[in-house]
Amino acid sequence: MTDVMQHPHLLIVDDDVALLQALPQALRLRMLGVEIDTADTAFTALELIQQCDYDAIISDIKMPEMDGLTLLDKIHELRPDTPILLVTGHGEHELAVLALRGGAYDFIQKPIDRDYFVAALRRAIQIRQLRRQVQEQQLALEMHAKSLERLIQKRTNELVEANATKDKFITIVSHELKTPLASLKGLAQLLQRQVDKPDSAELVKRGLVDMERSITRVNVLVNDLLDTSLAETNMFVVHRRRCDLVALCREFLAEYTAGAGPNLSFDFTGSSIEVEADSNRICQVLMNLLSNARKYSPKGSPITITLQQSGYEALLSVRDMGIGIAEEALPHIFNQFYRAPNAEVLNGAPAGLGLGLYVTRKIVERHGGRIEVQSTLSGGSIFTVILPVYVDVSEAHANVNVDALSPQTQAVWTVAHQQASHS
Ligand code: ADP
Repeated sequence: MTDVMQHPHLLIVDDDVALLQALPQALRLRMLGVEIDTADTAFTALELIQQCDYDAIISDIKMPEMDGLTLLDKIHELRPDTPILLVTGHGEHELAVLALRGGAYDFIQKPIDRDYFVAALRRAIQIRQLRRQVQEQQLALEMHAKSLERLIQKRTNELVEANATKDKFITIVSHELKTPLASLKGLAQLLQRQVDKPDSAELVKRGLVDMERSITRVNVLVNDLLDTSLAETNMFVVHRRRCDLVALCREFLAEYTAGAGPNLSFDFTGSSIEVEADSNRICQVLMNLLSNARKYSPKGSPITITLQQSGYEALLSVRDMGIGIAEEALPHIFNQFYRAPNAEVLNGAPAGLGLGLYVTRKIVERHGGRIEVQSTLSGGSIFTVILPVYVDVSEAHANVNVDALSPQTQAVWTVAHQQASHS
């Protein structure tokens, strides 16, 4: 039994003021917790009904101004589910029949048999409340069905989108792989024809260099694609170990600039910056950012790598003085396959698939970090990777080393590519 059942709310309408006092009193004695409003005219009753959804309404059938039958019609318009019991005078069978035909729940004859009246009222209230429950359940079911519909629509949209991305993926991949493969095939055929000819050594050598370049290109594409598909399926694993980011960057950059590569200058103050990182993946991030900095900058323009600690964060930024990125392109550059309209490759590696920054962001996020970019068209770009520094929990509790967290460690490398190309 619901709360409402325990406290049914009723309205009694009668122009007989004496009855309006006596009937509620009698009902309160027989129905514990009942709440009763009264109205001495049909007009007052209609006002009350507008404001309150009663569990049942009891109305005299014969009233001046507006009789019970007319009131019955009006209540049905306002509250079609409220059961109405009409009180008829003794022997007014025709009126009683009219009342039932007009949709009254029951009729009560005067003089009122209180027991019969209460029993009829209880039934009416119960029916009203059951209807209310059914309505509530129906509403809940409808809402559930709607939310399921929305979920299905959302999933369908996601699937459609994923399918479109796959199609795009396949189109781009086949297109991008075609060029280096065609060039490889052409070169292999050329070398086959040349290999037995006298004085072919120089030509064969050049052909092999070109072939290696094409193979490198295919290799980069396949690696980018593999990383992208792994990142998509959440199978992108990083093996994080505690390491010094300063040493990691220093070693990577020394290797990057080794041999006939670009010049490197280095300036360092402070101590190490400990992070928990997959060193290969962090090198991949640096490589991507450096390769972009080079690709989208004029020949020989310097690239600056800065590493510093600020509070609990390590900030690693790569800054170039290149073509920059237009404001409207900035929100898209970390998306798959996005290439800005001004993305004309000036140096170094050939144009990519627009996957490098997508993979870079995924790697950084897998380290609990984030990547930010500041750039203006023709004004160069700064890409900043922000990683959490390693905090030894036992040490942190015992004694927080504030000095270690202050931004005193700063390492700056400047890479200047020579005119001779480095790939
Ligand atoms: P891509 O293989 O095309 O370089 P990325 O995902 O690495 O793909 O970069 C996406 C796009 O972001 C690039 O096509 C380019 O438009 C822009 N971009 C990235 N880095 C730079 C940069 N250093 N300077 C200017 N534009 C950049």
